[in-house]
Amino acid sequence: MRQSNYFIPTLREVPSDAEIKSHQLLLRGGFIRQNAAGVYSYLPLGFTVLRKIEEVIREEMNKAGGQELLMPAIQPAELWKETGRWDIYGPELMRLKDRHAREFALGATHEELITSLVRSEINSYKKMPALLYQIQTKYRDEKRPRFGLLRGREFIMKDAYSFDTSEKGTDEVYKQMVQTYKNIFSRFQLNFRPVVADSGAIGGDDTHEFMALSEVGEDTIAYSSESDYAANIEMAPCVRSYERPNEAEKELQKLDYDEYTKELHKAIKYTLFKVNDSYCIVLTRQDHTINDIKVKNYLKAEHVEIVSTEEVADALAISVDDVHPFNERFEIYADHAVKAIVNGTLTVQPKVIYVNVNPSRDLNVKDYADFRMIQEGDPSPDGNGEILFAKGIEIGQVFKLGTRYSEMMNATYLDENGKSKPIMMGCYGIGVSRTLAAVVEQHHDDNGIVWPVSLAPFHVHLITVNTKNTDQKELSEKLYSIFQNEQLDILYDDRSERVGVKFSDSDLIGIPIRIIVGKKASEDIVELKVRKTGESFEVPVNSIVEVVRQQLKVLS
Ligand code: ATP
Ligand code: MG
Repeated sequence: MRQSNYFIPTLREVPSDAEIKSHQLLLRGGFIRQNAAGVYSYLPLGFTVLRKIEEVIREEMNKAGGQELLMPAIQPAELWKETGRWDIYGPELMRLKDRHAREFALGATHEELITSLVRSEINSYKKMPALLYQIQTKYRDEKRPRFGLLRGREFIMKDAYSFDTSEKGTDEVYKQMVQTYKNIFSRFQLNFRPVVADSGAIGGDDTHEFMALSEVGEDTIAYSSESDYAANIEMAPCVRSYERPNEAEKELQKLDYDEYTKELHKAIKYTLFKVNDSYCIVLTRQDHTINDIKVKNYLKAEHVEIVSTEEVADALAISVDDVHPFNERFEIYADHAVKAIVNGTLTVQPKVIYVNVNPSRDLNVKDYADFRMIQEGDPSPDGNGEILFAKGIEIGQVFKLGTRYSEMMNATYLDENGKSKPIMMGCYGIGVSRTLAAVVEQHHDDNGIVWPVSLAPFHVHLITVNTKNTDQKELSEKLYSIFQNEQLDILYDDRSERVGVKFSDSDLIGIPIRIIVGKKASEDIVELKVRKTGESFEVPVNSIVEVVRQQLKVLS
């Protein structure tokens, strides 16, 4: 490809609204442009990388027995109503009406659609197992679209769905998908970890997220200092045990707040939860953080919400002064650590504090369980080492769905004995466009992107230092046609720009190998520079193809 007529609108300045490196570099390098908040165009360079990501995914998915299909982005509302997600998904689901006022959703995910497809087609055990996938545009009206391709409102996802007759079958394909994802992300040269995660609005029993380690990641991973244990911080169980100190219980007292100084590990804090249509209270230690996902999972609730004192008072038509854990009308749960508190404190209004609180004696605690966020330094749940934190970008997630969708949507098959059973399902997603940004987050330096060979938009960047010099011009043209004949993926900077501009554009774009045709063109010698290491050396033209191939191999 000749750069003189290739659409690469590079920018000198860092765009002011781009906060993170991948967003800045993809804009500056002319890979993408924003069209609306969280909505992007992929320009030729960006689109080339996207295609390469997709091709790797296709190869690995097909190797695992996947069959590619393509489903519509526009989905009838009725399907989402069958599973109840028309309501549950909330404002993130983009909705529209056709000219007959029929409701539709723009696909945020495709469980409903694929289940509706298979329920009329996969009706016998003989047609399973099946693994179907697509690479397609998804729509989610994210509250905070940001960080460029990392959190878009229109983005590209690979989503796969498996159909099985047994739990064993689902387990097998799940394991196979975990391995497939490891293969895919390794081919992108990503530093990633599969972590135990929560199943969120999709639902299901067993799930892992794939996290690309990065400071700009929005998720925190709790991992062990000793073993390969890793979980999303929301999911990591706290296994620290608490000894109740051998101290006599004192009389409960109510004091003015200012009269008392707090000891954090003895202070109890309460959080009000709305669970379906009722309210409950969860107690934690003041120095711990409540984990609403653990509360949700403990209560086996579809949805829990942290609410304010005022909201509870309003809903129950009681005074705000009566909204606290000493009011017996509230169901109370407490974190394990609270059980070990002797003569603790509990602030119930901004200015009132109870001292000598002994939870089991003074509060109507229904049960003690693990309700807090894990902290750095806590013991690792697998018993090996202690917990450390790292930030990660979620690039993929695998779920075992079981029969959740097939039961709700009546997707059944006849088994060997002619008995009707719900299909066992799994679903497996990769954020294709987010992965593109994650790769840039992990592969860049101060001057620009440093693409891994597997994803580079081109393998070789041929640059003529001075296009007015006949030797240089002729040798460049000759090399361009040699590289093309050799099927080497080449971008040829034949522009009459200053060489400094060409070099800085080249650094920005991040093609792995640069061939510079300069002063020694008359001697048939060029310079080869490796983008990643900055290393450069002279190569005679007659061995250039061989040397380039060798360098690409080393970098792969
Ligand atoms: P997140 O927690 O980041 O919002 P999610 O868990 O809701 O993501 P999934 O439903 O698991 O996302 O979707 C599968 C994959 O699609 C994710 O692992 C992620 O890589 C990608 N993805 C999800 N939302 C977005 C988005 N708004 N922009 C880009 N990629 C996304
Ligand atoms: Mg997810």
